[in-house]
Amino acid sequence: MDAKIVAGFEEIVGKEFVSTKADVLLTYSQTASMAADPVIPELVIRPANTEQVSKILMLANEHKIPVVPRSGGSSLQQEAIPKPGSIVIELLRLTEIKLYKDLRSVAVGAGITYGELDKFLSKHDLFLPVCPESALVCTVAGNIAVNGAGPGSSLYGCTGEMVLGLEVVLPNGSIIQTGSEANPYAPGPFIRYAFGSDITGLFIGSLGSFGIITRASMKIFRRPKYLDYNLYGFDTAEQAEQFLDEIKQNDISGLFTSIYSGEVLSLFWDLLAEEFGYPTIEFQNRSVSMTIGRNREDLVKSDAKLASEICKSLGGRVLDAKELIHFEWEGRLWNFVRACYAHGWHWRTIYHHQAPRNSHKSVDLIMEAMDRYGFMGHTAGFQTGHSSMNMYPHMYFDPQDKEEEMKVRNAHKELAKSLFKSGAVPFKLAEYWKDAIEDMDDYMTFLKLIKHTIDPNNIMNPRVLGGI
Ligand SMILES: Cc1cc2nc3c(=O)[nH]c(=O)nc-3n(C[C@H](O)[C@H](O)[C@H](O)COP(=O)(O)OP(=O)(O)OC[C@H]3O[C@@H](n4cnc5c(N)ncnc54)[C@H](O)[C@@H]3O)c2cc1C
Repeated sequence: MDAKIVAGFEEIVGKEFVSTKADVLLTYSQTASMAADPVIPELVIRPANTEQVSKILMLANEHKIPVVPRSGGSSLQQEAIPKPGSIVIELLRLTEIKLYKDLRSVAVGAGITYGELDKFLSKHDLFLPVCPESALVCTVAGNIAVNGAGPGSSLYGCTGEMVLGLEVVLPNGSIIQTGSEANPYAPGPFIRYAFGSDITGLFIGSLGSFGIITRASMKIFRRPKYLDYNLYGFDTAEQAEQFLDEIKQNDISGLFTSIYSGEVLSLFWDLLAEEFGYPTIEFQNRSVSMTIGRNREDLVKSDAKLASEICKSLGGRVLDAKELIHFEWEGRLWNFVRACYAHGWHWRTIYHHQAPRNSHKSVDLIMEAMDRYGFMGHTAGFQTGHSSMNMYPHMYFDPQDKEEEMKVRNAHKELAKSLFKSGAVPFKLAEYWKDAIEDMDDYMTFLKLIKHTIDPNNIMNPRVLGGI
C-alpha cells in the first residue's frame, strides 16, 4: 500500500494501531470460517472511537480501498475474511458500556463481547437474553451484523429483536444514529421504531456492507431466577414438531428449545459422557431440549408439568438428561462445540430458518447430501421467536483431506439450492446464496440499488451480501 496512505491512517489512530507487518496480516487473513481460503489484507487498523472510524472510512473512500470490518472474527461463513487489496478495521477498542436501568436498555461499543456484557449486567441482576454460542468471543455488534440468534431466541427472537438503535458510520464517513436516540434530546434508547421507516433494520444482517456499527443499544431484562432443564423424546419428527407448536400455543416459557435427531445426540453424548463420566442414554428418533425460565418458581413448575403432559399426550417421554440441557443453557453449548474442536473436525455450515413444520425437510436434505457425497454431518435447530426454526447444518471434514473438503464444498453449494426450494430462508445473505436464490429478481435489484446508493464506490465489504 502507498506509504502516504499508510501515513494517513497512522495519523488518524496513532502508529501503534496500524500494522502492515506480515505476521499481523496473516493473523487477520482468517476467521473461525475454517472451510474458507484465507486472504492477506493490505493493512490492519484498530480505531478507538467513532470519530476515528469516520475518518478511516473517508480516507478509504477517497482512495477506493475496500474495507472489511472485523470484531471477534468468530463468523463461520467467511464474512470477515479480507478481500484482495482490502484493509481490515478491527473494532475491539470500542469498549464503552452505558446502562439505562430505568429504560431497561444498555448501549455497548462495537468491541464489547457478550461475555463482557453479561459479566457487567449480572452485577445488576439483569441480562441480554439472546446470545450466540460463541458468546465469549463474539461481539454484540458483530452478531447484529450477521443477524444472529442463539440461546434465549426461542422466547425472545433473533438478536435483531433486541436492538433499540444503532450508531453507524456510513462509507462516506457520516455518522448516523437510529431509533429513539436519533433525537438528541431523548433520555436514551427506549424504542427502535422512531422517525418512520426502520433504518435500524437496514444494518441488521447487512454483514458490514452498508456501514460500520460503532454502538448498539439493546433491550435488557431481569435475569430469570428459576430454571428447569428437560429433554423430551419422540419416535417421529412430526411428533417433535407438534410438541414445539404446542409449547408456543400454551405460552410455556421455553427460553431455549431445540430439536435434535437421535444419532446426533448419541454422538455428542458419547463424547461428553466419556469425558464427564455420564451414564449411557438411549435417544429416540427426535429429542427436544428445553430450558424453561421464569422469575417465579410456581410458574416454572407449572410450565414444566404442562410440558411433560403435552409430551406424553403426543406419545413421547421425558428423558433423564438434565445435565445435557443444563450445559446447553448455562454453557451456551460450549461443551458441544468443544467436543468438535477437540476431535480435530472442521466444518462448513449453511445457516437458515425453516417454518417449524418444515424443519424435518432440512434434516432429510442434509442426510441425502451426506449419503450422496459421503461425508459426516448433521443438523439441529432451535425454535426462534414467533414461528421459526433456526437450523444449523454442519458438514464435517478432515482438514488434512483435501478431497473430502472439496466434497463438502460441492455438497454445500447444492444444499443451498435444495434448501431454498424447500422453503427455507437464509438469515444472512452469505455470498453462496446468490446461485441458490431464484424468482426474487426484483428483491435483489432493490438490494443492489440500496447498496449502490449508500456505497457508490463499493468499498464496504464487497460481495458478502449475496455477491453484491
Ligand atoms: C463455536 C461457534 C459457535 C457459534 N454459535 C453461534 C450462534 O449460536 N449464533 C450465531 O448467530 N452465530 C454463532 N456463531 C457464529 C459467530 O459467532 C457469529 O457470526 C458472530 O456474530 C460473529 O461476531 P464477531 O464479533 O465475531 O464478528 P466478525 O466475525 O468479526 O464479523 C462478522 C461479520 O460482521 C461484520 N462486522 C463485524 N463487526 C461489525 C461492525 N461493528 N459493524 C458492521 N459490521 C461488522 C464483519 O465484516 C462480518 O461480515 C458461532 C461461531 C463459533 C465459532
